[in-house]
Amino acid sequence: MTSETRTYIDFSDIAGVEVTCHECQTSTTRTLERFVDGTCVCPNCETPLLPYNQTDARTLLNFANALRFVQGLKPAARIRLNIKTLSSQTSAGQQ
Ligand SMILES: [Zn+2]
Repeated sequence: MTSETRTYIDFSDIAGVEVTCHECQTSTTRTLERFVDGTCVCPNCETPLLPYNQTDARTLLNFANALRFVQGLKPAARIRLNIKTLSSQTSAGQQ
């Protein structure tokens, strides 16, 4: 017998974004609303946390805005994201 565990999250489950500074490893969690305000610097060392490339930074902000948008939708179907679990990451790494 084979069993498989799948993990799903609803868009409404996404409460925020964790950002970890590469300089000092300080992690902060921001709400989506606060993340898209564009002022994202490390609270410990004040390193800018968004990519230096403006296109990449804009893509991240657009993604956060899109998440906020879909959280407000009332679709006719339930739409969830399938996320990897630690066990599936481990088995995928062993293949
Ligand atoms: Zn830092």
